[in-house]
Amino acid sequence: MKIICIGRNYAEHAKEMNSPVPTEPIFFLKPDTAIIRDNQPFYYPDFSKEIHYEVELVIKINKVGKNIDAQFAHKYYDEIGIGIDFTARDIQANCKEKGLPWEKAKAFDGSAPIGKFIDKKKIVDQNNIHFKLLLNGNSVQEGNTKDLLFTFDTLIAYVSRFFTLKTGDLIYTGTPEGVGPVAIGDKLEASIENETLLSFEIK
Ligand code: MG
Repeated sequence: MKIICIGRNYAEHAKEMNSPVPTEPIFFLKPDTAIIRDNQPFYYPDFSKEIHYEVELVIKINKVGKNIDAQFAHKYYDEIGIGIDFTARDIQANCKEKGLPWEKAKAFDGSAPIGKFIDKKKIVDQNNIHFKLLLNGNSVQEGNTKDLLFTFDTLIAYVSRFFTLKTGDLIYTGTPEGVGPVAIGDKLEASIENETLLSFEIK
């Protein structure tokens, strides 16, 4: 499986990064070795001094598809979850400055913790999904799908023009504003509509 991450999909986050709001989706990949499941801890890597959390809603692809039309994209996922797109911000800044690829900053081992998924049928309005990240019990990020620049269906249509989507692939759909650093000993808890689906420690 592969992990597709969408960049700058909330205008306020683009603003906080001093980056332009995109006119078409921006995406990059993480390998499956980035995944952390079952609330296992994240081990702070020795190559960075500035690991940032980015909480994101995640969709799980349920069948193979290529060149998917946006109007049928909803048939390609049944479940929505929540995860963290960990970013080595110091390395990312360095890569950006030099115009180099981002993978070292984004796709390292453990950079994609993923929580439990919920059946999308349980969600009343997909254009109004509230999600949140707590750091040591304090709310640090809150988002709502009404603020998405590109909807889930648009993302599936766009990404599938380039990459065949396969069963089990994950799409991290972008982070709202409020990203920030973690430190060893911190606890992160992420929820959708106040249901905690991911909870783990930084070690
Ligand atoms: Mg992100």
